[in-house]
Amino acid sequence: MLRQQAFTGREKLLKGGLHCHTTRSDGVGTPEDVIRMHEEHGYDFLAITDHRIYNYKNFLPGSKLTILPGMEMDRGLTDAPGHCLHTVSVGPTREDGNGFEQDQVFPSGRVATQAEYQPVLDMLHENNNLTIYCHPGWSCTPTRSFDQLQGDAAMELWNTGCVQENNMDLNNERDWDELLLMGKKIWGVATDDGHRMASHCLGWVMVNSENHPTAIIQALRDGAFYASCGPVIRDFYVEDGVAHVACSEAGAISFNWGGLPYHRIAAQEQPLTEAAFTLPDRYTYVRVTVTDDQGRMAWSNPIFLNK
Ligand SMILES: [Zn+2]
Ligand SMILES: [Zn+2]
Repeated sequence: MLRQQAFTGREKLLKGGLHCHTTRSDGVGTPEDVIRMHEEHGYDFLAITDHRIYNYKNFLPGSKLTILPGMEMDRGLTDAPGHCLHTVSVGPTREDGNGFEQDQVFPSGRVATQAEYQPVLDMLHENNNLTIYCHPGWSCTPTRSFDQLQGDAAMELWNTGCVQENNMDLNNERDWDELLLMGKKIWGVATDDGHRMASHCLGWVMVNSENHPTAIIQALRDGAFYASCGPVIRDFYVEDGVAHVACSEAGAISFNWGGLPYHRIAAQEQPLTEAAFTLPDRYTYVRVTVTDDQGRMAWSNPIFLNK
């Protein structure tokens, strides 16, 4: 049996936010307000990823929210299709090898191609940070403008701010499949990129981890999580060539591989809470999406089928 790593051996997953902004850069809410709002929405951890300024701190007195160290890095893009390349950079604690300082600031700039951006990513990785490719929709980067970047652990499938303000980055599954079909092992996240207060707490990850930054980073690297804007995925595994999923009440469940049209199962009289699908031979991985009756989605990470 192959069980997706989010669902091995832990009943309660951690709810986490990976991308938000505050008045430390161009966000509307103070760090205190943004932290408080996430606590009120049941989050266990949050990365405060202001533009090019690193943060480890929990600014809200008495807050129990775990702060995942991080920031957002960027470059404008001059030659390759697209207008910019943005990356969320999150890492472990200082004691566990994070090379950045509290409030360390970084310059912006321009690059001609993704190859010219690679040294920026390399610098983040050398400082033990995990990187997430942000909002390919809003950045107007077709996959061929970011598909050669090395070392990203994940990419954004959903970005609340871009959805609300630009109707972009609602579901970047096709870009994700393109990378997966190239053999890249890259995970999918939902984030808010909240700048306005109304953009926070609408897209998150559920992580199979102890509640400590270093453990969370390792779980994110391992793909031991799923992304959601609402639905709960309870289990996802493949056994004897059949994929099985269990979830909260859904209007539709879809089993996906990038090389064939997705296999979608729609609820009939009653909402779905589970589904199974016999995998075609051609599948090299399978992942599942769950859609609730309000149209909100959750995305599992892929199970690779060892072909
Ligand atoms: Zn950005
Ligand atoms: Zn951002």
